[in-house]
Amino acid sequence: MATAFADTGSSSLSGGSGSSSLSGGGGSSSLSGGGDLPPYSQWISEVQTVAAQAQDYLAGRLPGATRPAIVFDIDNTVLETQYNPGPITPAMAPMLALAKWAKSQGAATIFVTGRPALMNIYTQINLSAVGYSVDGLYGSALTTLSAGSSGLQEYKTNARIDIEGDGYTIVANIGNSASDLAGGHAEKTFKLPDYDGALS
Ligand SMILES: [Mg+2]
Repeated sequence: MATAFADTGSSSLSGGSGSSSLSGGGGSSSLSGGGDLPPYSQWISEVQTVAAQAQDYLAGRLPGATRPAIVFDIDNTVLETQYNPGPITPAMAPMLALAKWAKSQGAATIFVTGRPALMNIYTQINLSAVGYSVDGLYGSALTTLSAGSSGLQEYKTNARIDIEGDGYTIVANIGNSASDLAGGHAEKTFKLPDYDGALS
């Protein structure tokens, strides 16, 4: 089990988006998404396309893989953080289906989020409540890590190195921000839309 808890520093509980508000850059205090976001139906459709590509790939990769793991970003990747915020944020259906399928094929499903590690318990409750199997959960160090920042990217890369150190083979890394995916330590990456940063 690779649940990591960072232990230093302090941070806001902004959901890991740092200086990028959860309003999608629209400048309001609403959590319902800014004006830059396309309709929900378009977002889901675009995610579904990537999820299908990932499943096609994994169907060929998972058989015979040694301790395969898939790493997922959380906000706006596996949860509908900006489109449907709430105390329990709903799962993004195409990603939940992919995660459940991958789990059934022997993959561990491990989550690496920019949310501060102080929120891990809350985050794990949310993920489990909406149907995800949480084999590992990495919350960020308690510094301000803006979405897309080099610090966030470095933290996420180091989390994947730690996962590999636990003996997993990271066959896929899936996220909606470039900082989720850069830095290597995954056989393949799958990029979901972020609409030029409007989705954290
Ligand atoms: Mg995200």
